[in-house]
Amino acid sequence: MRKLTDSKIVLATHNKGKLSEIKVLFNPFGIGCVSVGDLGLKEPEETETSFVGNARLKAHFAAKESGLPALSDDSGISVDALGGAPGVYTADWAETPNGRDFSVAMSKVWEMLQASNAPPPHMAKFNCVLCLAWPDGHDEIFKGCALGQVVWPTRGNHGFGFDPMFQPDGHVLTFSEMLPSEKQPLTHRADAFAKLVANCIE
Ligand code: IMP
Repeated sequence: MRKLTDSKIVLATHNKGKLSEIKVLFNPFGIGCVSVGDLGLKEPEETETSFVGNARLKAHFAAKESGLPALSDDSGISVDALGGAPGVYTADWAETPNGRDFSVAMSKVWEMLQASNAPPPHMAKFNCVLCLAWPDGHDEIFKGCALGQVVWPTRGNHGFGFDPMFQPDGHVLTFSEMLPSEKQPLTHRADAFAKLVANCIE
């Protein structure tokens, strides 16, 4: 696997929640992070049907445009009783005429679970694919997950996206009821990032 030898990297996301979590993950390694937003770059449309496909699209676009190594995150929540939905389409379920609203997306998940008559607990999984891409077209892929269940009503006001609905295994609080420092080590993102560190940094 290729090592990350640069002291600066581009984070290929405009999502504030992902950005703050990924910046914290890079902190111990002395690698500076700038976002595509800082560089005035847009994100390409997510036209692929897999986490890996979309992660590759975003990282290669940012690496090519910036001339720096770029890290993208494609992630989402998969609910067992919904056949893995919303999965790769997690962000799409939040689309409304006025922009993204994750309370709408979480309600949709809950309504579909009610309609399915599936008994609780409603097991679910957050997936994350990180793609580290270089301007010459090389990339490395790392996958992570966080196991838990979706709960209703939603609880908490920290975090982002589906955090208020997700209670990780072994915990009584949702991601959204935890402080960022409590959520951080439990995430699908931290799981994938540990593999990146083991292979490309250390
Ligand atoms: P995408 O990777 O841009 O397709 O968006 C994935 C969506 O999944 C995000 O917009 C979030 O709503 C959701 N998501 C990913 N990771 C997390 C997380 O750690 N907490 C809550 N929601 C998340």
